[in-house]
Amino acid sequence: MDEVLWEAIVHCKPTFDGQYFYGVITTHIFCRPSCRSRTPLPENTRIFRGVNEAKAAGFRPCKRCRPDEYGLGPDEELVQSAKDIMEQRYQDPLTLDKIAGELAISPYHLHRVFKRLTGTTPADYLFNKRLRAAKQALRTELYRTVTDIAIGVGFRSPSHFSTMFQRKTGYSPSDYRKLNLGSPIAEEVER
Ligand SMILES: [Zn+2]
Repeated sequence: MDEVLWEAIVHCKPTFDGQYFYGVITTHIFCRPSCRSRTPLPENTRIFRGVNEAKAAGFRPCKRCRPDEYGLGPDEELVQSAKDIMEQRYQDPLTLDKIAGELAISPYHLHRVFKRLTGTTPADYLFNKRLRAAKQALRTELYRTVTDIAIGVGFRSPSHFSTMFQRKTGYSPSDYRKLNLGSPIAEEVER
């Protein structure tokens, strides 16, 4: 088996999702390479190029990764994975390099594909996610200082945060807080 593909299966990377599927001979179940199910032994693994090929060989789709409901192409899957990382871990010191590294692709490639599919860059997406989180915290977490919130949502420099906040919203963080005290943003759950 191709070493890079096996690497993706072992580390649950979405790099080959949509291009390859792997079946486990002992269970007759097939998965996307990124599936988080237990990694089978290489000798018990069979690679397929498509859902129909796997089914024709008598394998059933995994209930966890749903390879048969594969609606996304590899690029869309990549963008979704990048979004998931940013949505779940925006508080971490994430960078384009770091996200791309986790997805096992080049930062340039991630930037290009993300921009093409979403119209925005990963950096802007991350910034907006942090900004939304900061707004929500300013409105509802009154015991926290502006600096604490800035750092807490992933901005490395509180002064940079204040500058960017003012530029985007027209208010300083503390004025924004005074104006919206205690009223959470309803659409915060949207992505
Ligand atoms: Zn699976």
